Amino acid sequence: MTTVLRPESQPHDDIAVAGGCALCHGSRHKTFLIAKQRTVIECAECGLRALSPMPSLDEMVSVNEETVLPFFNACLEDEDSYRRYFAPKLDDLQRYEPSGRLLDVGCGAGFFLDAARARGFNVRGVDLSPVPASYATEQLGLDVTVGSLYGYESIGDAFDAVTIFQTIEHDPDPAALCAQLFRLLKPGGALMVTTPAADGFVARVMGKRWFGYRNVEHVSFFSRASLRHALEAAGFEIEFLEIEHGKSLSMKYVLNRLINYYYDHRTFLRNGLRILRPAMFVLGKVPLFEPWAHLYAVARRPGQATGGVPPELQRDGAAASTPLSS
Ligand SMILES: [Zn+2]
Repeated sequence: MTTVLRPESQPHDDIAVAGGCALCHGSRHKTFLIAKQRTVIECAECGLRALSPMPSLDEMVSVNEETVLPFFNACLEDEDSYRRYFAPKLDDLQRYEPSGRLLDVGCGAGFFLDAARARGFNVRGVDLSPVPASYATEQLGLDVTVGSLYGYESIGDAFDAVTIFQTIEHDPDPAALCAQLFRLLKPGGALMVTTPAADGFVARVMGKRWFGYRNVEHVSFFSRASLRHALEAAGFEIEFLEIEHGKSLSMKYVLNRLINYYYDHRTFLRNGLRILRPAMFVLGKVPLFEPWAHLYAVARRPGQATGGVPPELQRDGAAASTPLSS
């Protein structure tokens, strides 16, 4: 086993990292773990754990192209799990922002957007991957743009609510991402975020084998402290930031996700899954409980909404005229 996990008590080493920490630009880091050619470092200033060297957004798009299909298929097979998960999220969001224009970042197949639209939100999505985005557009009739969030630069102040589920950990520049989320919200608008919790129960029990570190799509690993730092540094006021008590999943969902998380063992897992496939109908109904595995936050852009809709968004349901680049 090539993995090395240093004890937390060791002092921080001064590891040279180009440009410093991806979040606070601090220069003092220690090596947190090395596994499968991936080095995770921990910032001494803000506590963010992140890959070193950090890949570029283009490199992440390439990784995503390889991993998106198994992940997308798992999503489709477990639509019910997703919808059950998103319903209480919408309840929570509506306590802060009952209606209005909503953007879901990393919207995938669009199950959250579909549910938000049914509650009266005027919804749009953005996703780097064309496969889930075309499902959202063609099957669910949603307005989803393929590309990076940074293509929305020209819009600004456009949304009453922005949601970003399990996506912030994929972005090589979390500081820029949070700044862009802030910019897209109207003053007073609400941001909802979830991301795997590096300080959660599951991460602590699993240590270096935690799925967060194993997922080749994940490049930043947030704790409550580092997510708070990321949001506050971008200007957000935090309404709440906590570790979710737990999430109920089906056995089928867990098996499907393992293919994605433990990518390097995918052949073994796929074969295992194939053997189990006849039992999937039953497994899909076996509930599992994933305790304290994810961070969950609602934050607000301070200020009062001034009203008005930017010209790019004036036609309801129309795609932005500005092409998005990734
Ligand atoms: Zn830092």
